[in-house]
Amino acid sequence: MLASQPGKKLDCYIADYVVFDLETTGCSAKSDAVVEISAVKVINGQIVDEFSTLVNPERPIPEQASYVNGITDDMVIDAPIFQVALREFLDFAGDMVLVGHNIHAFDMKFICRDALNFWGQTIGNDYIDTYQLSKVILPDLTCHQLGFLAEYFGFSSSGAHRALADCKMNQHVYEALGQELSKIPRCPKCENLLKKREGKFGPFLGCSAFPNCRYTRDL
Ligand SMILES: [Zn+2]
Repeated sequence: MLASQPGKKLDCYIADYVVFDLETTGCSAKSDAVVEISAVKVINGQIVDEFSTLVNPERPIPEQASYVNGITDDMVIDAPIFQVALREFLDFAGDMVLVGHNIHAFDMKFICRDALNFWGQTIGNDYIDTYQLSKVILPDLTCHQLGFLAEYFGFSSSGAHRALADCKMNQHVYEALGQELSKIPRCPKCENLLKKREGKFGPFLGCSAFPNCRYTRDL
């Protein structure tokens, strides 16, 4: 939804949300443009609706980008421009929490930038970045890339790098992260996650909100 203030980044599991993903002409949230936007709506952990459209970026798509996402100039000639596609996506998402992989550093920057250009407002939906969530929940994993996480949890990663397929894979990964999250103990004082730490007298559990919260518990 359009708003004057950006939404907050959350680190939690919720059962109702919209997963979204963009394919773009490149990696720069300053100068690149969207060529595809897809989303799935999830209620109670189940996909109930999906949205997907190619986007005409009104510029040539670089070969390297087409190589990654398989989207070429001739595929987007008749597609809507992003001002139209983004409006449709925002109607689809309403005020639901947005979920996506690496969206804090990437996708949110694109859609907030373009919403500001088109309508003078930003995107007010709160959002959850499964890339960042994965680093918190699975700190021992060396890779937190979406396809890697899908395989780690035993899901197929085929069809990766087209937006709708990535949304569906991301939805499975988020549900699995939610399961993992429910196993991590929480601080009885402030509800933040407890983390294993190494102290002078061996490992202990400490609040992840340290130094704001100093709760600790012996392992
Ligand atoms: Zn605490």
